[in-house]
Amino acid sequence: MDNTLRKYKIDTPQYFLYKEMHEKQTLEYVNSKVEQYKKLNNKVMTIHEILYSMDNFIDPSDPDIDLPNSVHAYQTAEMIKDKYPDNYDLQICGLIHDIGKILFKFGEPNWSIVGDTFPVGCQFRKSIIYYDTFINNPDFNKYNSIFGIYKENCGIKNLKMSFGHDEYLYLVLQNNKHNLPERYQNIIRFHSFYSWHLENDYKYFMNEEDEELLKDIKHFNQFDLYSKSDKDFILTPDIINYYSDLLNNYFPCPIKL
Ligand code: FE
Ligand code: FE
Repeated sequence: MDNTLRKYKIDTPQYFLYKEMHEKQTLEYVNSKVEQYKKLNNKVMTIHEILYSMDNFIDPSDPDIDLPNSVHAYQTAEMIKDKYPDNYDLQICGLIHDIGKILFKFGEPNWSIVGDTFPVGCQFRKSIIYYDTFINNPDFNKYNSIFGIYKENCGIKNLKMSFGHDEYLYLVLQNNKHNLPERYQNIIRFHSFYSWHLENDYKYFMNEEDEELLKDIKHFNQFDLYSKSDKDFILTPDIINYYSDLLNNYFPCPIKL
């Protein structure tokens, strides 16, 4: 596989984005954002409108892509469809996994939308990208034990994760009507938790059911990450039509955001 992806250098735009994120994502901040967004009182949009809005968003945290996020969405879904033509759940998961980035429309700063996520309320781990930039986070000394506010084997789903497009989309999916099973919502929720699913840290928070989730996310990540190295991808009307029908089946009603 491609070894040139996810190379993070110092003093780049990515570095400054993560520095701000790592200084400002505290337990208190995360709690306040979840409270704010679980009200779902920002906008009502169809799934198609949400996906179109990704035409105007390029992820500034990503060193590997400078295409609109909607292209990344179709690319990920297409790579899944090539391998799993009958797994519509996984295709839809690939197509929508990043639409939580619609947070940019609600005035959220980039450091609260994109980038790798990590648990708050416990020690920040060296396995997190740009770890050194956590030093000025008010929680750095406050929760400086491995378990922090959690218990051993409490379950990954019980961690409070830094707030961004993953957690936000999970909140939206949990509180709207649609046909995407829980399994795929959990993939979406933790797809940017790289220090766990790629670096294999945080094992001590896992319970039995998390083994399956970890497998699912590692599997999904191949498509999310490696679809970016296909520089020849062309988005055709056929591709758009295929997913348009699929989206209508999965999201028949407008979505409260
Ligand atoms: Fe993402
Ligand atoms: Fe993605």
